[in-house]
Amino acid sequence: MQIQSVNPYNGKLIQSYSADTPERVAEKIRQTYKSWSTWKEVSFSERGRYLYKTASILRTQAPILARLMAAEMGKPFKAGLAEIEKCAVCCEYYAENSESFLKDEIIDTEASKSYIRFQPLGVILAVMPWNFPFWQLFRFLAPALMAGNCGVLKHASNVFGCALAIENIIRESGFPEYVFQTLLVSSNAVEGIIENPLIKAVTLTGSTTAGKKVAEKAASVLKKSVLELGGSDAYIILADADLEHAAEVCVDSRLINSGQSCIAAKRFIVLKHVEEEFTALFKKKMESKVLGDPLDEKTDVGPQARFDLRDELHQQVIKSIELGATCILGGEIPQGNHALYPPTILSNVKKGMPAYDEEIFGPVAAIITAQDEDEAVNIANDSIFGLGAAVFSRDIAKAEQIAATRLEAGSCFVNESVKSDPRLPFGGIKESGYGRELGVYGIKEFVNIKTVWVG
Ligand code: NAP
Repeated sequence: MQIQSVNPYNGKLIQSYSADTPERVAEKIRQTYKSWSTWKEVSFSERGRYLYKTASILRTQAPILARLMAAEMGKPFKAGLAEIEKCAVCCEYYAENSESFLKDEIIDTEASKSYIRFQPLGVILAVMPWNFPFWQLFRFLAPALMAGNCGVLKHASNVFGCALAIENIIRESGFPEYVFQTLLVSSNAVEGIIENPLIKAVTLTGSTTAGKKVAEKAASVLKKSVLELGGSDAYIILADADLEHAAEVCVDSRLINSGQSCIAAKRFIVLKHVEEEFTALFKKKMESKVLGDPLDEKTDVGPQARFDLRDELHQQVIKSIELGATCILGGEIPQGNHALYPPTILSNVKKGMPAYDEEIFGPVAAIITAQDEDEAVNIANDSIFGLGAAVFSRDIAKAEQIAATRLEAGSCFVNESVKSDPRLPFGGIKESGYGRELGVYGIKEFVNIKTVWVG
C-alpha cells in the first residue's frame, strides 16, 4: 500500500511512501521493546545528554524542517521556525527537570520506610496529527524518553516526511538504536498495534472521533490512554475590555497555524454593549492578514493542510450561513489548485449552527452576542469541548475569578491567548480528552507509580 504526501499549496505529489507491512510493524515494535530493556536502566544524566543534543540539532536544522512542514502541510515558514524552537525548549526543559520530577517521594507511615517510586512502563504508541507535526510529538517524546520509556510513532498520513525527519534527529542525537521509531502505517493499522502485547500504553492527539476509537480499543485490552482532542475555545470579551488589545489577541489566536490549532480561539462571545466596536476592530485586523504561499515570509495564513479538510471547512461555513449566520468577511474559496481558505468572520452565530456546535478547524471566526456576563459564561460552557478559554476585561480580579472558577476548560487565560508551555500542564476535559501533557503532570502519565513499603 502506498501513502502519499501532497503539497496543499500547489497540489503536487511530494512523495509516495510504501506502508510498513504488519510483519515489519511487529519487527519494529520488537526492536524498540528490546531497546527498552537497557534504556530503562540508563541514568537521568545520560538520557538528558542525548536530549540536549536533540535540542541543538533541532535548532541547526530549523530552516530545513520549517520548509518540510510548509511543503507537507502548508505551515507558514516563520511559524515553522517558531515550532522547532519550541520543541528545542521542551527537550531542554525535560533534560533539566525530569530527575527531580521523578525522584522517590518519601511518605511517613508506621513502616520503617515507605515511599513512592516512578518507573517507566515500556513502549508507548503515539498517534499524532499533522497540525504541529514536530511539537505534538516532542511534547510526548521528551518526557517519555526521560522517564525511561521508549516510543513508536504513527504520524498523520500526510506528514510522513516529518515523521522520518524526527526519527533521524533522535538517531543523530546519539540515543541507543530503536528507542524511538516511526511506523509508516495508515490509521486502520492502529487497532492492531494497540493489541500488540509489547505496547504498554497509547497517547493520541487528534480529533474526538479518532480519540474515541483509540480509547475504546485501549480499554478493551486494558491499556492506559491519554487523549488530546479537539476544541472550540471560547474567548469572552467583557464590556470593560481593552478592545484594541482583545481584537489583536483574538485575531492572532484564531489564525494560528492558518486556523488549524486545537487551542485556536474559535468562538468569540462578545457583550452586546461592545459588540459593534469589537467586531469592527476584529474585522480590520482579520482583513490585514496575508493569505498565500507558506514559503513567502510575508504570508500570515497558508493553505489548509489538505484539500478535503478545506472543503469540509467551507461546508461548515455554508451551513452556518444557511441557518442564519451573517458572513461579514471571506467565506469564498479562492480560485486555483491550492487548499487556500481566506480569513472569514461569521456574526449572528447561534446554537444549532456548525459554527456554534462543532469544531471549526480553519481561519473562520464565529461571533456570538451575549447580553451579560452570566450569559457569556453559559455560552462558553455550552460546548461538548473543554480545552481552553480566555476572558478579556480591565477588571483583572473579575476576569481571573471567571477563568479560575466558572469556565469549564483545561486551560483558562486572562487577557492573553491560550497557549501551551512546557512548564504547565496541558489538556482538556469533556470531549477534548483526558490526561495531561507537559509540566510535572505530563511526565507522570506513563509511569508505574509504585508504592514501596519496608516493614
Ligand atoms: P485526526 O484525523 O483525528 O488524525 C490524528 C491522528 O489519528 C492521525 O495520525 C490519524 O491517522 C489518526 N487516526 C485517524 N482516525 C483514526 C482511527 N479511527 N483510529 C486510529 N487512528 C486514527 O486529526 P487531524 O485531522 O490530524 O488533526 C486535527 C484534530 O486534532 C483537530 O480536531 C484538533 O483539534 C485535534 N488536535 C488536538 C490537540 C490537543 O492537544 N488537544 C492538538 C492538535 C490537534 P491518518 O492521518 O492516517 O488518518
